[in-house]
Order: sequence, then structure tokens, then C-alpha cells
Amino acid sequence: MKHVYFFGNGEAEGAGLGKEALGGKGSGLAEMTALGIPVPPGFTIDTAVCADYTRGISLDGVRSEVDAALGRVEKTAGRRFGDPANPLLVSVRSGARSSMPGMMDTILNLGLTSKTLPGLAGASGERFALDCRRRFVEMYSDVVLRVPRHRFEQVLTAKKKERGVASDTELTAADLADVVRQDEAIVREALGRDFPDDPRDQLWGAIGAVFKSWDNERAKTYRRLHRIPDDWGTAVNVQAMVFGNRGETSATGVAFTRDPSTGEKKFYGEFLPNAQGEDVVAGIRTPRPLRSDGSGKSLEETMPAAYRELLRVRDLLEKRFRDMQDLEFTIEDERLYLLQTRNGKRTGFAAVRIATDMVDEGLIGEDEALSRVEPEQLVQLLAPVFPAKEKEAAIKAGRFLGKGLPAGPGAACGRIAFTAERAVKMAAEGKPVVLVREETSPEDIAGMHASAGILTTRGGMTSHAAVVARGMGKTCVVGAGEIGVDEAAHALKAKGKSAKEGDWISIDGTTGEVISGELPTRPSEVLQVAVERTLAPDASPIYRGFERILTWADRRRRLGVRANADTPTDARVAVVFGAQGIGLCRTEHMFFEEKRILAVRQMILADSAEGRRKALEKILPMQRADFVGIFREMGERPVTIRLLDPPLHEFLPNEEPALGKTAAELGVSVGALKDRVRQLHEMNPMLGHRGCRLGITHPEIYETQVRAIFEAAADVVRGGGKPRPEIMIPLVGTSAEFDRLKGLVDDVARKIEAETGQGIAYKTGTMIEIPRAALRAAQIAENCDFFSFGTNDLTQMTFGYSRDDAASFLPAYIEKGILPEDPFATLDQAGVGELVAIATKRGREARKDLKIGVCGEHGGDPRSIEFFHATGLDYVSCSPYRVPVARLAAARAALSEGKGGVSSTA
Ligand code: ADP
Ligand code: MG
Ligand code: MG
Repeated sequence: MKHVYFFGNGEAEGAGLGKEALGGKGSGLAEMTALGIPVPPGFTIDTAVCADYTRGISLDGVRSEVDAALGRVEKTAGRRFGDPANPLLVSVRSGARSSMPGMMDTILNLGLTSKTLPGLAGASGERFALDCRRRFVEMYSDVVLRVPRHRFEQVLTAKKKERGVASDTELTAADLADVVRQDEAIVREALGRDFPDDPRDQLWGAIGAVFKSWDNERAKTYRRLHRIPDDWGTAVNVQAMVFGNRGETSATGVAFTRDPSTGEKKFYGEFLPNAQGEDVVAGIRTPRPLRSDGSGKSLEETMPAAYRELLRVRDLLEKRFRDMQDLEFTIEDERLYLLQTRNGKRTGFAAVRIATDMVDEGLIGEDEALSRVEPEQLVQLLAPVFPAKEKEAAIKAGRFLGKGLPAGPGAACGRIAFTAERAVKMAAEGKPVVLVREETSPEDIAGMHASAGILTTRGGMTSHAAVVARGMGKTCVVGAGEIGVDEAAHALKAKGKSAKEGDWISIDGTTGEVISGELPTRPSEVLQVAVERTLAPDASPIYRGFERILTWADRRRRLGVRANADTPTDARVAVVFGAQGIGLCRTEHMFFEEKRILAVRQMILADSAEGRRKALEKILPMQRADFVGIFREMGERPVTIRLLDPPLHEFLPNEEPALGKTAAELGVSVGALKDRVRQLHEMNPMLGHRGCRLGITHPEIYETQVRAIFEAAADVVRGGGKPRPEIMIPLVGTSAEFDRLKGLVDDVARKIEAETGQGIAYKTGTMIEIPRAALRAAQIAENCDFFSFGTNDLTQMTFGYSRDDAASFLPAYIEKGILPEDPFATLDQAGVGELVAIATKRGREARKDLKIGVCGEHGGDPRSIEFFHATGLDYVSCSPYRVPVARLAAARAALSEGKGGVSSTA
């Protein structure tokens, strides 16, 4: 079987094979080559070889193919590998199916040996050749020979210091020769043998190391965070070197075909003259802009021909890939070469803008636009901003610390952590954290994930911090150069002020501003238009894009989307975001309000049904008023109201001084109150006297609640409304429980109809949250109008994991791979999902028109939504702010049906 694919000079064996086989990089190189874009020749070893290699199979099987492909590269480049007179140098580059920025290791300038070095020096100058050798020895030693990189960095830093220069470009040939000698000595000392001096040994060492790097810790962490399967493997690309470090007419750079922060259609990028490889991203010197900015330093101004060629390439690539591209290029003696293209990571703002713009440009259709926005990215458009006034005041008050580049929009305020480990620790203590570093590196991923925001003092819009933050949807400011970070002293300094670890800092990822101390935040533009109505829709392109995407989504989705809302305010927000009803209104939240809790406690303390009834009479009008408000907001949309669910002791205090205070308010002795608390105490409250069990033992509680619902509905009908109450009985495990309580609901309904003369159309259903209920769904459904899966409790009871105690072992389970992820965040399809499927099937068999929804946390989780769609549920219900996410996720689930999963832009 063929495993090695040549590309070069307009010809690409791998064109059309795709990322699965060639990895993202290899596939991009093949496609670019086939389009006639200048790409240095090379070949790709496919991902299947990685899978074999990590299983212990040797690389011998591909040796002859590699030799043949290398021969073609030599021919195309006009140089031979290992030739002392005119040596071919290559890069060995990893490239997985899904891009993993900075995760895998690349080796440049491979093929430089004691024999080929003079040849390169003769052709291109000694200083240049030594610079290449230095870089090669450092990279190869680090990645292949496992000699830590910092040892080489120390040598370079010491040399720069000794020579009194700031940048490595100022070192002479003699300086570099000395650095190389010292580097080689380090290797000799560490390994007890010389640095490999045979080009073929170097090549195979590098190929093996790239394959191995698939399993390094950084790569594993990245895969875990981004849910990339471990068995995909990486491809290896071997490619002829071109040199951006050949003096001032050479350069290396990166570009985005559109602005990755805002999505605006403008060419965006940075470059560094006389540099190689990762120099731009690593932030060793401040990069320059591509487009003319009047400084005379841009690529447009300094190398206009290469710039024009880059613009041509940009258009070709956008047409070919029909998506925003992230490019890596090198210019050697004013000639442009493309080294990488991939779909660019972007913020949520940019995703929406690019998708809608591309529809307007005729590049993609509406359905494809939906696949270009990850549902989770919409959350970013709802993220808060700093109010302009407060920010100005803070700046006036001298709290402005500096300005960096706006790499990840949003407003973040938190305590400063100077290392990733500290960020993880501080975040675990529940504090919002802003990670502040000179520049992040792949080792910082976990810390970045834990932080509310990320601030770096070096690096550009394409630096590691910027790229990773964008991928995570984090607020991020990069390259705030006026701020000095002393990581060792755990302090930062700017404008004569300083801050230490734990101090508050505020960063604005939309403008790049950094302000010391805390700042309040304000609702996003979308909320200002939709909820506050302080901004006109026409004044906000962000809002318009958001609306368009969701309108397209609504045309495609089959699943209904409702919201979990307990108050009229929540209900209003839910409707604004497109909720088609309320899927869960929790009545106990209403009980906790200050004025009501006393009456609730009186009810709990009463020792007879009569006493409870008296207390409940005080609660009744208040509940009624709540329901009137909610019915009014929801109009003709259904409102599912869950009767009291938590155990009663949750409403009583259990510690001094609250006990004493409550006893006084209730006019009972502290002793009596304590006795009642003791009586109600349960060993396992979540499995105790709660839910419908309360309704069975204390029917007056449910009667009062149902009365409040029907009286409110009658009230709203009188006002011309058409409320649609759906009464939901929680925690049912047997059909007898349900039937008895359904009888109670019907009795109250009849009574109120008699009293008010107002008939109300209503439904009675149950939550399915106990495994037994899922299994006995047929019997329960007989008498029942709807099911709503309470997937939080259902997960808890199916696994037998207490939701409130799982934090002590779940992280370890996930870390050790016992569970793929937190089943409380994303539905466990195999187990809990099977119960959902069984209950749906059995329920519908017993009752064809049974309505089925989900009201647990999973109702707002895109991957769970995909499952609910496939299982044939009628709707999902989630928090009001996740309704847009659910609408888009439901549409994508419908679109991906039969296509084997939702496609991703990543
Ligand atoms: P990553 O996966 O981290 O993006 P790459 O394989 O793209 O790593 O390599 C990093 C950088 O090294 C590239 O952006 C490019 O600047 C440089 N590079 C890689 N191969 C070559 C080459 N053949 N010639 C010149 N530069 C190269
Ligand atoms: Mg790259
Ligand atoms: Mg529950």
C-alpha cells in the first residue's frame, strides 16, 4: 500500500486525499501545490504509518518509498541531500488531521553535517550557514535527542550578553561558530556521543521523533481538551527548506485571510525580516504588519512584489477552501513560498461574521454557514463588556496599565497568576483568575483553560497565547509591551505602578486595554439590543449576524427549544432568545424569597395537615402572582411547572445564629425548632423524602401549588390571555405514584373550574429521572401527557454518583480515562442515553402523542443535543442564555443526520 505522497512543482500525488490520510498540513501543502501556488517540494508520510509505529511496528516498510520520494525532491530542488557542494536541507514537520498549534515538534535545516556545512557556507555565506546549523542542533537535540532546550538557550543568551547585543541577528559568524561548538559539546556531554553527522540518520531520527511526539504530554492535554481521538495519529511532512533568514530581503510570516478577532474582510498578518520558522510566533522580536501602515516597515512597503503575490494566493485559497485561512509563509530573496494553510481559528464574533459574509459573497450556502459556527461560540457574543463610563473613570484615575493587542474579545476581571500552575490552583479555589505571562507556551494550556482571561506582554496576534485563547473562546490581550513582568518575583510593573500575585486586574479583549483593580462588567451588545433595548438592531452588526445565523438554524432544526425559567424576568429573556416555551419552572425557588420563607417554615413546623394548610394559605396568593407574571410573559407558549421537589429540611436553617433568629420569627423555642430540624434530617436527602413522595404524604402542599397555577391561569384568561400550563410531577418511580397525583391535579382543576367558571386546558406529565421510571415508561405513560427527562438526577441515579460529592473522584476518573468526560456536563450516551431511548420507545408505544423533552443541564450541551435529536425527542430545555446555543446545535444535528456527525471548522 502507498504511504508516501510527493508534492512539488505543480504536481501533488496527495491532492484530494484529504486530512484524514495526510493530516491537515500535508493535505494543505498538496492542495496548494496543485493550485500552482509556490510551495517548496516535499513529501508526506501518511497517518496510518503513525498508528502502526506507535503500536511498535518499525518504519522499515516505508523506507524505499521515502527514498524514492526524496529522490524526486532532490530533482525538483536541484540539490542533493548530503551533497557537500550544494546540499539539500529539509524540514521534518508533524501534521495531524485537526490542527494542534504548537503541540507537535518541527525540525528545520535537517541535513546539515560537518561535510555539508562548508557547502552551504560557500553558496550562501558563512554567517547564514552557521545560523542554520545552530538552529538545527538546538531543535534536533531538543526533539530527537531529548537534551533540554534551555541549555542551548543559555549559551545563546550568554553570547549575546558577552557581545553586548540585543538580538541574535547581530551576532557575527565567529560568534555563531562558538555557539555551535558549545552546543555540540553540550550534546556530547549529555549523551556520551557526538551529534549525528549522517544526514540519513538525522532524517530517520527526526521522522521517528515526530511520530513519537503524538504521544507527548502537551499533545495529550490538547487532545483531551479538544476531544481529538488518540488513535488519529499524525502525518510527517519532509520538505525542502527555503530560507527566511538569508538577510533583509528574506523573511518569515503568518497571515489570516480575514481578521480572526472580528471577522472583518481584511488581510491580516505579521512578518519578521531575516528570521526563520517560529520566530514570529515566539515573540523574540516585535513583528511588522503586512499591510501598509505608513511606518515604511510593512511588507507592502518593503517587499511589494512578494506582498502582491501573497494577495493573489489569499484569493486563490479562499476560493478553493471557501473558509478563512491561516497561512504560514517564507520569503527567500524576495520570492514568496507558502508553507502552510489551514482553516483559521477565530473568535465567536469572527465566526458569525465570516459565515454570514461568505453567504453574502456567494462562497457558501446558509446550511454551510451553520456548520461554520460552533454552538458554543455564540456564548462569546453574549459575554459581558466593561461599561465605557467606568472604564474611562478608571483610566482617568490612573489605573491604566497599558495597551496590548485585542486577541480574544470580551471583558475579564480576576486575580493575577503569573504561572499556569498557580492559575490552576487559584481557579480551583473558586477565584476568577487572569493569567499574566511574558508569552505563553504549550505547557501553559491547563492554566489558560482555568483562567477567565489571559494577558501577555510579548508576542503578536498570531502568538501562541492569541491562537490558543481564540480556540478556547477566552478573553485575551497579547503583546502589552509597556507592562513588565517579573515572573520570578511574582510581580508586574507598569507606569510606575506594580501589582503582585492575587491582586485584581481587568483586561479588555475587545480593545486591548489593561487596567489595574476590579471593574464592573456590562451586558454584551447582543443583550443591549435584545434584552435591554438600549441599542437599535441596525446599530449593531454583531446582533444582526447573530440573528441571521439563528434564523437559518430555526429553518433547519426539528427539535423544539424551551428554557428553564423560574421568574417572569427569566421568562422574558428566554422569549427574547427564541425559547418556544418553558420546559422547567422550579416552584421551590419561589419559596426561598425573603418574604415567603417565613410562611414556608411555618408550614414545615406545623404538626397537622390543618396547620400546614393555614400556612399554605399565605403562600398561595404569592405563588399565584408568580404564575400570572410568567403566563403573561409566555403568551400562548407552554409553561411546564414542576411541583415541589426538594426535601423540606432544605428550607430550615441548621446552624446558629440563623436557628435562633428563625425561632424568634416563628415564635417558637430554639429547642422546638432544633427538634424539627433533627426529625427532618436524612442520611441521603437526595434519595429521601422529596419530590412526589412529599406530594403523597403531604397532599395539601401539591394541592395549594396546583390551585395557585389554575387560579393564575384563570386570571390570565380573564385578561384575554391563553396560558398553557403543564403540570409536572417530579421523581416518579412507579405508575401508582403518578396516577394518584394526577388524580389530585384533576380534582383541583375541576374545583377551580366550578369556582371560576373558567375551564383551562392543561397537561399533566412527569419527570423521568429515576431509572425505574425509564423502564416502566409504558405503564406511566398510559395516564400521562408528557415526559421530561431530568437528566441531572437520571445521571446521578444511573451511575450512583452523588452530584454533590462527585468532585472528589470524577476528575481522577477522567484523568485516568475511566470516564471519557464529566457525565453531568455531556450525557453518557451509552448508559444514561440507553435509558432515555428505552423510556422514549416504551412511552410512545403506550401513548402515541406523548410529548417528550429534556430539562436537565444536558439540554444546553451541543453534543447531548445531537443525541436527543437522534433519539427522536420533541424538545430540549436549557437556561435562557443557552437557548441560542441549543437552537444552533439542534440545526446542526438535523443537518448532520446521515452524514456521520456534525462537521467542525477546527
Ligand atoms: P507547526 O505545526 O507548529 O505550525 P510547522 O511544521 O508549520 O510547525 O513549522 C513551523 C515553522 O517552521 C513554519 O511556520 C515555517 O516558518 C518553518 N518551516 C517549516 N518547514 C519549512 C521549510 N521547508 N522551509 C522553511 N521554513 C519552514
Ligand atoms: Mg505551522
Ligand atoms: Mg430532579
